[in-house]
Amino acid sequence: MAPPSPRLDRREQSDGIVIHTDEDLYEHSRIRVAFSERTGGVSRSPWQSLNLATHVGDEEPHVAVNRARLLSAVGVEPQAVDLVMAGQVHGDSIATIDQDAFSSGEADYGEPFVAPATDALLTQHRDVALLMLYADCVPIILVAEAPTPSICVVHAGWRGVLGLLPEKAARGLIDRAGCLPQDVSVYIGAHIGSCCFRVAEELSLAFAAKFGDSVVVGSSVDLHAAVEIGLARAGIPSERITSLRTCTVHNSDRFFSYRADGLTGRHGALALID
Ligand SMILES: [Zn+2]
Repeated sequence: MAPPSPRLDRREQSDGIVIHTDEDLYEHSRIRVAFSERTGGVSRSPWQSLNLATHVGDEEPHVAVNRARLLSAVGVEPQAVDLVMAGQVHGDSIATIDQDAFSSGEADYGEPFVAPATDALLTQHRDVALLMLYADCVPIILVAEAPTPSICVVHAGWRGVLGLLPEKAARGLIDRAGCLPQDVSVYIGAHIGSCCFRVAEELSLAFAAKFGDSVVVGSSVDLHAAVEIGLARAGIPSERITSLRTCTVHNSDRFFSYRADGLTGRHGALALID
């Protein structure tokens, strides 16, 4: 049976937290996906308010409350899951998260396990919440429901896109899940749009060389188009990709944007096999 078409449903809670999730996917396979916005948290300016990052100068207890609120909004008990994050480095490596990450004693109770130096997290384990952080870079969640349920969360800035990380992550997920490319669901969150991503000529030439002239719009680069081309090369048809199509710079009241604000917080992409 073909998996349901991926979609993103906006859900706003009474506490102000907004997530974009796929209810059908959860009904179908008990896999949760979510992109967060910046409202509904406890952090103060300039991190107001649902900042999920500790490395940007915010108070750690505030960040811990925000992460727990996000997990609750997504429908999981924060204590009931292992939270896995990444030391994001704008590289092209993919970390596979196995159960031994937690049995080695590296993960303390209540503290996330941080996979070192990677920009994609992949797991097939239940109750492992993968969380990546963003402020303009492209958030991507890849899901294979069967034969082996598998999830991958990708942080793709321009370096990652140019380094073909989305396509590598898709191939890695397809391989591990043992599925066909047309059975993968892809979710793309808010990121800097071509409206705001003006780059030096050298960089636009590099993008054109890798993805074709269509990804260069005047002196700007369309990261979304480049990601879609990469995913197509991994065999994923465009109808298996759904996207928020929202520019973070233009919507810095809803999302964190490094380009718009400099010192600011980070929103997240989260995935979990229940
Ligand atoms: Zn924009």
